[in-house]
Amino acid sequence: MSLEALAKAAADPQSKSVMRRIVRENLGVYRKQYIMAIACMVLVAATTAFSAYIIKDVVNKVFDQRNLQEAWYVAGVILAVFAIKGFAGFGQDVLLNRIGNNIIARYQKRVYDHMLKLGVSFYTDTRSAFLVGQIGQNIGGIRNMLNLVITVVARDILTLIGLIAVMIIQDPVMTLCSIIVLPVAGYVLSRYVKRMKQLSRREVNLNARVSSALVESAQGISIIKAFTMEKQMQDKVHMLVGMSEKQSNRIALVTARTRPLTETLGGLAIAGAVAFGGSRVIAYGADQGALLSFLVAAMLAYEPARRLASFRIQFEKALVNARMLYELLDTPPRQADKPDARPLEVGAAQIEFKNVCFSYGARANGEMVLDDVSFLAEAGKTTALVGPSGGGKSTIINLIQRFYDLHSGEICVDDQNIADVKIASLRSRISYVSQQPILFEGTVAENIRYARPEATQAEIEAAAALAQAHDFIMELPAGYETEVGEAGVNFSGGQRQRLSIARAILRDAPILLLDEATSALDNESEKLVQQALDRLMQGRTTVVVAHRLSTIRNADRIVVIDRGRVVEQGSHATLINKNEGLYSRLHEIGASPELYEAASNG
Ligand code: ADP
Repeated sequence: MSLEALAKAAADPQSKSVMRRIVRENLGVYRKQYIMAIACMVLVAATTAFSAYIIKDVVNKVFDQRNLQEAWYVAGVILAVFAIKGFAGFGQDVLLNRIGNNIIARYQKRVYDHMLKLGVSFYTDTRSAFLVGQIGQNIGGIRNMLNLVITVVARDILTLIGLIAVMIIQDPVMTLCSIIVLPVAGYVLSRYVKRMKQLSRREVNLNARVSSALVESAQGISIIKAFTMEKQMQDKVHMLVGMSEKQSNRIALVTARTRPLTETLGGLAIAGAVAFGGSRVIAYGADQGALLSFLVAAMLAYEPARRLASFRIQFEKALVNARMLYELLDTPPRQADKPDARPLEVGAAQIEFKNVCFSYGARANGEMVLDDVSFLAEAGKTTALVGPSGGGKSTIINLIQRFYDLHSGEICVDDQNIADVKIASLRSRISYVSQQPILFEGTVAENIRYARPEATQAEIEAAAALAQAHDFIMELPAGYETEVGEAGVNFSGGQRQRLSIARAILRDAPILLLDEATSALDNESEKLVQQALDRLMQGRTTVVVAHRLSTIRNADRIVVIDRGRVVEQGSHATLINKNEGLYSRLHEIGASPELYEAASNG
């Protein structure tokens, strides 16, 4: 019957392709293990069938003929059969679990590798905690599906075949009567399948929402407390948890709903055998041992038959997981290299924007985020981007790294259009220091080394020293080997920034992109960070989203960006003398970032 279920699942073109893909991706990898596991299953099935068969001898030789020697012999055989079954069962469990764990490991690696290839835009459109929640559940689905097919199809069908063979040997007519219930059960159960499909997709999404709410609450705990959002968050999470609980209950109901039906049908078959076979023993003196052996076989056949009957429902659930995982794996990596892309050849590293138009997806009013932006960031000099917030400054930084593709126009580095070069070669020539410095799992040294894996310890320490980070690192419990995020190791905002500057110094790339922090540091920290930055910027082509007056003043060129357009550009000295210019107005009011907005509107 599960063959029938498989055939049905195969009739649905989507299920068919997902199944084919899973089989194609996994069967070859585990061929040997599967063959061994199936050999074990054959042994388990054979021994199970034999243990039902031998009941006939127990009854006839021990009870009827009262033959002691035969009784000993039968006892010995039973012991041997159960021992073989035990070892075969052991082999089967170990093999299937190993395969299952390896499937999980392989897909986890594959999903992670794919995640790294996806464009930045994928992550701005997706909530990461939700994504992670979904992935975990769905990978489990692929493992369950393969194990389900193997255990149910191989083990249960084999066991069933063995037991039905015993039943036929003992009583062919009764066998025919009792297996008639199987197709009936199969038909009724197949009607629950559709419901299961809808339910499981919803369940995965709900569970992912619960786990993402937990992760986001942990990350944003200070905001939750500061805004006294506890009650609201509690209500929201409790509601989600409640919904997820209900959903799981619904699934349990659909799965369990098969029980009354299968139990009753099983009971019917066995009761029929007792009544029919019993009456023949009483009326015609038929073989008692054969009847008992038949009954034991029928009872043992009940469990695998029930699992086969509800197989399709669980199979459908696993199929939904697999399909959702493939949706992620099939998301194409964006900003792939062009087929004829060549490595970027960087000389002096001059960056030029030529009539760049860009927008993140379609905007309601049809406006561009960047509209005909042209400017030149001269080699080895510092170009400061200034202007009201939301104007498009960070977008420019993103585009230089080719996180997104342009709508029109060109960005050239040393006269090579970055759309035509290999992305890796472009990014390897760029150091990026973001506004919120991010530290990854690992030690302090590892966090700096990410910039250049082959760097020596001495180089790492030199970079840290230049970034004004060496002294505070040496005061950590284990110095450079201190684990980031270890209890008691909390870095201040300024320290984090200096660590990320050390990372950028170590990278030693000719182009430096800098998103200056808006959050105020204390004076001492500010001074140290500024010194570190000054060293980093020396001799590099720097494009900085500038908020500090000193950075702006010291820049070789200032590009004023307002609502996606370049409204002014030039040195501080030239711009300040333009009476009606945005820059001079900004400067008049002190150029504090919060006031940019007011200045641009006024
Ligand atoms: P600035 O750095 O000058 O403050 P941004 O470059 O961050 O400005 O933003 C420019 C515009 O682009 C804003 O209107 C902002 O809402 C929009 N924007 C920024 N990032 C994204 C994104 N990932 N998806 C969609 N819109 C975005």
